[in-house]
This record gives sequence, structure tokens and C-alpha cells, in this order.
Amino acid sequence: SPLANIVTATVTIDASALAHNIAQVKQCAPHSKIVTVLKANGYGHGIERIAKMLPEQADMIGVARACEAIQLREAGIKQPILLMEGFFTEQDLAHVVTYDLHTAISTPEQLEMLLSANLSQAINVWLKVDTGMHRLGIDATNFDAAFTQLQQSNNVADDIVVMTHFASADIASGASAQAQLQQFEHLVEGKQTALSLANSAAVVAWPQAHQDWVRPGVMLYGVNPMTTEKSLSPTLRPVMTLQASLISKRLISAGETVGYGDTWTAKQDTYIGVVAVGYGDGYPRHAESGTPVLINDRIVPLVGRVSMDMITIDLGPDSSDNVGDIVTLWGNGLPIEDVAECASTIAYELLCNIASRVKVIER
Ligand code: PLP
Repeated sequence: SPLANIVTATVTIDASALAHNIAQVKQCAPHSKIVTVLKANGYGHGIERIAKMLPEQADMIGVARACEAIQLREAGIKQPILLMEGFFTEQDLAHVVTYDLHTAISTPEQLEMLLSANLSQAINVWLKVDTGMHRLGIDATNFDAAFTQLQQSNNVADDIVVMTHFASADIASGASAQAQLQQFEHLVEGKQTALSLANSAAVVAWPQAHQDWVRPGVMLYGVNPMTTEKSLSPTLRPVMTLQASLISKRLISAGETVGYGDTWTAKQDTYIGVVAVGYGDGYPRHAESGTPVLINDRIVPLVGRVSMDMITIDLGPDSSDNVGDIVTLWGNGLPIEDVAECASTIAYELLCNIASRVKVIER
């Protein structure tokens, strides 16, 4: 195994899993073009790495910050890139022109900045309208005026895309997404323009929201985007697998405690394994005793507190595991969603938190 001599926590990034997941997006939304969402360092997978692995079905790349788009351009990425929240400074607006980016207009300040700018060429605009998330997006009451102003501006290329973002698309047939969808349909009625609504959950659960462009993020990386009716999701494959080595094993007696704060006490004599991964690598410190860990094809529980560089696991009284064995923290064989739940968070956060110390292997 390429991991055999590696003590440092390691993530394996599986290009074929990414291709599989994008094919699943295409199957769910066959008539839509795809913005592959690569913000936050490609959800922790490495933004340049994922950009270079993208198959042909990826029509555009979505990022949150201008610096992410610039990083991609400087790495030679030629695909269209969308700033999904827009620009927040004059300098970033200039970058939109220089680096040939598409940009959302999602606040009145951005609208004003764009309309009053003197750009050397027209830029591609995605007008984001607030349909209920109440975070970013032009107010529904100002939407028509904003759309007309953009259409008439020399700074704006033809073919404005109108977009919105769901607050709760992960709840299948929920009233919130239904209301946002209706509001959106009402606002764009009669407008001959391209439309975009769907994040991963809407790709899976809200076919009415597919329209011209879908914007999947988390499902590209193999995470089930649904929080209810998870079975609606197609089978996805984890792109990231996080692994580390078993670096120690000791027998402790019933009644003895393990780790900082003595939070866990052995009920029987048992073997405790020490694994070379901790919150310094991005493993969540809030993972509770009982969080699943995979070793030698069986799931064992994390016990005691997560340390910076180590976790402790209960290998049981009959363990035949050996120091040097590879332990999987999430990915192939162990869904990251299960780990996230035991740490009171979501898979998105675990993926984003992978630390720079962690070695990366591409497969
Ligand atoms: N579209 C926009 C505007 C977003 O901000 C995001 C991410 O939060 C996405 C799409 C992708 O979301 P998800 O990862 O849930 O598919």
C-alpha cells in the first residue's frame, strides 16, 4: 500500500469517484448545464486538484471569493468561473474583467458599483434574487428594476442568468423550498433569460428547480445532500478518504480511564489503540466517544477526547490489530455523514477542515 510507511494522516483523493458523482448529477438533471462548486479549497479536496480532475460535463466552476478564481486562472484553468456571491471591492470588480470571470450581483451595493463603473468590456452577470433565504440576493421587490438596469447597462453582457439559493432544499417536499420555488417562478415569469436555483439537494429532490444551470457542491464530493429521505439520492462515491496509522496499542483494565479529562472509562479489560490523527489534522475535536472508526474491516468506537495529534479507539479484548495497521476515519467504507453526526456537525465542515499537515495522495 502507498500508505504503508506513512504515519502522517493521509487523504486519498479519488478522481474516478468525482467523475462518477458528476455523472450522477447529469443523470438527475439531464437538461441542465453544471456549475461545479469548488469554493473553500474544493470543499477541502484542493481547488486546483479538483479543477484539473473535472470531466467534460463540468461546464463552469463556482467559487465564493475572487482570490479562489485568481488561483484557478493562475493555475491555467480555462473554464468559465462564476463568483457566486459577487465582488465586494472595486479591486475585485477589476479582477472580474482581468481574469474573465462571471459574477453574481447579490447586493444593492454591488449593483450600484457595477452600474456606475467604467469597464473596458461587458461582463457576464448572474443576478441573485432573495426568495426567502434572507442572506444575499436582491430583494424581490427590487428585482424587476435591477434586472432592467442590468439589461440596459453597457457593462453587462447579454444573457443575464437569474439565480436564487435555497435555505432548506435538503428537506424533500418541505414547505420552505416550495415557497422559494414559487416566488422565483413568479418573479421570472415572462422573462427570456437563463435560470439557476439548484444546489445538490435540489438536484436530487427538486426537479422543478433544475432549469438551465444546476450548482452542485457537496454531492460532487460524494456526500448525500439530503437530511430527510436520504434514499432519494443516487449512489455517490466518496472522493476523499482520510486515513492514519495505528501507532500504539495497550491493554487496560476495567475501571481505567482514557485520555484528557478522563471522560471515558473501560467497562472491561480491553485493548486501546492510538491513531495518529487529531484535531491538528482536521479530525473534529467534538467527536464523541462512540464515533465510528474503521480498522481491518470492522467498525470500532472512538473513546475519550480527541487530542491534537491522536485519537484513542477501543479495539476490544480480543484485538489482533497491529501497530502500523491503517485506520480509516472517513471515506471508503465509512460514510463521513456518520462521523459528522457524532461530532454534532455536517460533512461539509469536516471536509473543509482538513489541515495542511495532512498528506494528499491522488488516485
Ligand atoms: N450555490 C450557491 C450559491 C452556494 O452558496 C452553494 C454552497 O453553499 C452551492 C450552490 C452548493 O451547495 P451544496 O454544496 O449544498 O450543493
